[in-house]
Amino acid sequence: MPRFTKITASIGPSSESETILRQMILGGVNMFRINFSHDTGDVQGKKIESVRKISKKLGMPVGIMVDLQGPKHRIGDFATDEKYSISVGQTFVFDSNPEPGNSFRVNLPDKDVMASLRIGDRVLLNDGKIEMQVTDVAPDKIKTRVVRGTEIWSRRGFNLPDTEIKTSVLTEKDRADLEYALSKNPDWVAVSFVQRPEDIAEVRDFITARTSSPIKIIAKIERKNAVEKISEIAMAADGVMIARGDLAVELPFEQVPAISRQIIRECRRLNRPVIMATQMLGSMVESEFPTRAEISDVANAAYLRVDSTMTSEETTIGAHPLKVIETMDKILSCSDMDAMAHPNDWVRSENAPDNDWSRSVSSMAYLNHAMAIVVFARDTDAVMQISARRPDVSIIAVCDNNLVANQLCLLRGVIPIYTPDSFALRDIKMIAKITEIKSGKLVIVDGDEVSLRDLD
Ligand code: PEP
Repeated sequence: MPRFTKITASIGPSSESETILRQMILGGVNMFRINFSHDTGDVQGKKIESVRKISKKLGMPVGIMVDLQGPKHRIGDFATDEKYSISVGQTFVFDSNPEPGNSFRVNLPDKDVMASLRIGDRVLLNDGKIEMQVTDVAPDKIKTRVVRGTEIWSRRGFNLPDTEIKTSVLTEKDRADLEYALSKNPDWVAVSFVQRPEDIAEVRDFITARTSSPIKIIAKIERKNAVEKISEIAMAADGVMIARGDLAVELPFEQVPAISRQIIRECRRLNRPVIMATQMLGSMVESEFPTRAEISDVANAAYLRVDSTMTSEETTIGAHPLKVIETMDKILSCSDMDAMAHPNDWVRSENAPDNDWSRSVSSMAYLNHAMAIVVFARDTDAVMQISARRPDVSIIAVCDNNLVANQLCLLRGVIPIYTPDSFALRDIKMIAKITEIKSGKLVIVDGDEVSLRDLD
């Protein structure tokens, strides 16, 4: 049985050579993530070109997702590179004064952030290691009380879990990066620090003003206010990433598993693919072997029937990128098989998409013990609907459009096959050949027509 849960791998210095990329694809990577938080322009363009070249040579569709940095907020500089002591209970001020900071104040470069903060809001710096609470707001000055933390220093990133920041989701840097990325024809664009559905509309307008190619958008869910609007955001986007790194700073970390389940459930209901991200095999940045807890985390993603897991530092700066993919592939394959043998409430109808058509396709496959569902896919719609139902049988998507084939690489259980002439494959013998299925039944979806074919 082929693996149902897909693997998205981030590319970085450890993995950007063509030799490693090729081996990663052969080892099971379905989609690559190009993270514009690190590097930009031609450095990233070269990675996209390498993946395209290898995928073409191998004749295997591979998805490319460019990930925009988004409005990641940072405090200003301090007088030296030293760490400055702070203590719980003291007052600390963020202001518009460009002078270097000290133990009692620092510049806050972003005016939109300054204008958005309210009394009582929390400011979490340095991945939540420092917590401050706003006690007073003035046009150029935000007073806070230190709740947690002992040291502060230059350019720390911060999260504002209680604040809706009235700013564009695309920074100047994002606009330049996206403009460049679009010239390289990515399949998916991931948007960071989404707060509301309008953010997705803004990115979609930016894309459609520049290309007629139906590039799809992933909303990264990493802010508390995005979780609160998950249904509207998922509907506005084409897919969702559970960005657990920032999410565990914005929300109490113990809530992240429950929120992840809620997001997965909602994505499934709305036919939106969902990626589980961050620290899945984090210890493998150095170690050749995963921890027992990481094995369970990856397996759990398969049991929850996400579309894809994702690697970050493990494959960008880690010492064993190929071992990471091999490990993830093994765990997912084994867990997918077990999940299929013991369906749980994730396949129960109340969690399924509200869609009679995909229900009948998947019931036909289930009741007839079909070997696979074969879809002649002109676009991604029909395949997305069937995949969201989690039929626990491979969905072979025959596409005559490269972009569609690449986009479908992300979807759970979908095996995209690109051919410039999909009509040539409508012959049952050809289907048997491409699917490598010698006997048994296939459910065939061709436009509105759904039929059952027997290979015996
Ligand atoms: C995350 O925060 O978990 C995440 C995936 O985002 P990034 O790596 O861009 O910080």
